Amino acid sequence: MKEAIAVYDQRMYSIIDPDVQLEKLADGAKHTEGPVYIPEDDSVIFSDVSGNKLFGWNARDGVSVIREPSEYQNGNYLDLSGRLVSCSHGQRAIIRREHNGEWIILCDRYQNNRLNSPNDLVVKSDGTIWFTDPPFGLTQPGEGYGGNQEQAGSFVFRFDPDTGEIDAVIKEMERPNGLAFSPDESILYVSDTSQVDHPQSHHYIRAYDLIDATELVNSRVFAVIEPGQPDGLRVDQQGNIFTSSADSVQIYAPDGTRWGKILVPEVVANLTFGGKDGRRLFITAGSSLYAINLKSINQS
Ligand code: MG
Repeated sequence: MKEAIAVYDQRMYSIIDPDVQLEKLADGAKHTEGPVYIPEDDSVIFSDVSGNKLFGWNARDGVSVIREPSEYQNGNYLDLSGRLVSCSHGQRAIIRREHNGEWIILCDRYQNNRLNSPNDLVVKSDGTIWFTDPPFGLTQPGEGYGGNQEQAGSFVFRFDPDTGEIDAVIKEMERPNGLAFSPDESILYVSDTSQVDHPQSHHYIRAYDLIDATELVNSRVFAVIEPGQPDGLRVDQQGNIFTSSADSVQIYAPDGTRWGKILVPEVVANLTFGGKDGRRLFITAGSSLYAINLKSINQS
């Protein structure tokens, strides 16, 4: 039996059993991304960005199409009322699925200019939506409708859906992509995947301290990720960072020590915690959706 994990620090065994196997739940998509666990019906919703579809998966029925075309939807998350909030490359917007099923645009501009192509998002405990806005939906063929970049850079935004207020909270990154808060929301981790555009450029995760719930300070490189890119990431209840990479989901302690890898046979794009008992890790990679059981209990 092939080993499902690589271990660099014995503490990896507090996260996962060495004999656990990776399960392939679905395949046949073009580019899976943005998994979000839906506790209500024990399902996973995920995007096929370049396939221009939004999928749902559950253990009983397998895969179903939820939205087609999906306007090249990418990252997905649940808001505090259980509504799906998503990044739309095609609409260059943050969108939300209302309780009646209708999709609405929450925000598509910053300082009167169109957003680039929102990539990934998280909802903070105060209901604000934090999202990254690299231009991949404009620059990568088949990941959007193209178009001109109107923003002066690729920013990370904080958007308040109650007031409509939008602030650029990080302006220094080249291609911010995945993001996640620490469990107490004192640290925001953001991946930079500028290596996609420039081979000599970044493939790392930066960390920022959050003060007054709105301002990010103390910018630093948390970890350089290889092989490939750190695209989507999540933080577990203990504060460990689970990041995507070309060959695996890699697990880092909050002090930056790499504990190990969950090996995946396709390039990992994103991941989320879930399962009825909170012990499942769902992984979007290449054309597929995978899952593996963890020892620790987590919520995304
Ligand atoms: Mg991404």
